[in-house]
Amino acid sequence: MCQVATDMKKVLARKHEKFFERHLQLLPSSHQGHDVNRMAIVFYSMVGLSILDVDVPAKYNYHLDWIRKHYIKKTLDDKNSTVISGFVGSLVMDIPHATTVNIANTLFALLSLIMLKDYEYFESILDRESLSRFVSRCQLPTRGSFVSCLDYNTNSASPVDSDDLRFCYIAVAILYICGCRSTEEFDRYIDTRKLIEYIMAQRCCGGAFGAHNEPHAGYTSCALSTLALLSSLAELSDKFREDTITWLLHRQVSCHGCMQLEDDSNTTYDQSDDGGFQGRENKYADTCYAFWCLNSLQLLTKDWKLLCQTERTKNYLLDRTQNTLTGGFSKNDEDDADLYHSCLGNAALALIEGKFNGELCIPQETFDDFCKTCHC
Ligand SMILES: [Zn+2]
Repeated sequence: MCQVATDMKKVLARKHEKFFERHLQLLPSSHQGHDVNRMAIVFYSMVGLSILDVDVPAKYNYHLDWIRKHYIKKTLDDKNSTVISGFVGSLVMDIPHATTVNIANTLFALLSLIMLKDYEYFESILDRESLSRFVSRCQLPTRGSFVSCLDYNTNSASPVDSDDLRFCYIAVAILYICGCRSTEEFDRYIDTRKLIEYIMAQRCCGGAFGAHNEPHAGYTSCALSTLALLSSLAELSDKFREDTITWLLHRQVSCHGCMQLEDDSNTTYDQSDDGGFQGRENKYADTCYAFWCLNSLQLLTKDWKLLCQTERTKNYLLDRTQNTLTGGFSKNDEDDADLYHSCLGNAALALIEGKFNGELCIPQETFDDFCKTCHC
């Protein structure tokens, strides 16, 4: 690469870094307790900064105390006085006598602690047993799927709460971080067979996963990542794998005479989105689906980089949705950059570089270091 190009790359990396930094410093500390999305903001920012090779543990360790404070242990009012634990998104949500921890904030917090290399916390403070027990209670016994939190009155998963593939993924990712690897280990806390049956029931006729037989790239990535963490991708038939790969490849917008131009069924793509991915049929390309589709493809085939021409995806992200003025990525080339798309835009690029663990959505090196130190 010529010197000018290298310097430009550095300037943009610095702009992205500043973009994520601004989000971490967004709210004055006196207001932080009121922001229920704060744990997600910390997670997305730290993923972005870790990808950019910022020394997150050294630079942002002042967030440790804040995250640790959100870990809540509760003794339930049942005949066994069951102890459960997890994270709340905000301290105003820590209401006495109510179980307010939820699995999404728990996963955001655990992954943020891993990125901060707070290994002491995993070794001596975090109670993996009660945390896994909380996850266990979020499973709906009849459906096998998961909800995000427990019912205030019954302290069990409420059958009226929404349950979908996202929550299944979150539940399994938490157990994986807590050390579960084999089916026997997962079975200690959840009904793994029933969960796999639920995931298989979300398969769509022409490949991919989604609710009510409508394939969706986000749900597909959640389903495949969950199966990968459970070491159960082999449950999928060759035919379904092939159909899913084909469906995913057709989500890539192409003006080079392949993919969507071959079958003219997709009329809403924009040719200048070449290389980007859409989340569903007949939708415009969107930065985040580059990550969801590429993550799905890399779980299904080792030839994914050749099949979908990742160079074109890189060009789409860098030339079309990257904001070269403010740093960050936007959903498309019209909106302002936002934290979610900035995180996933960088994640897609890191995945293409082979440096990202798509199943857990953190840099591979970060997770390897955690596993080595915490022997999980
Ligand atoms: Zn998006």
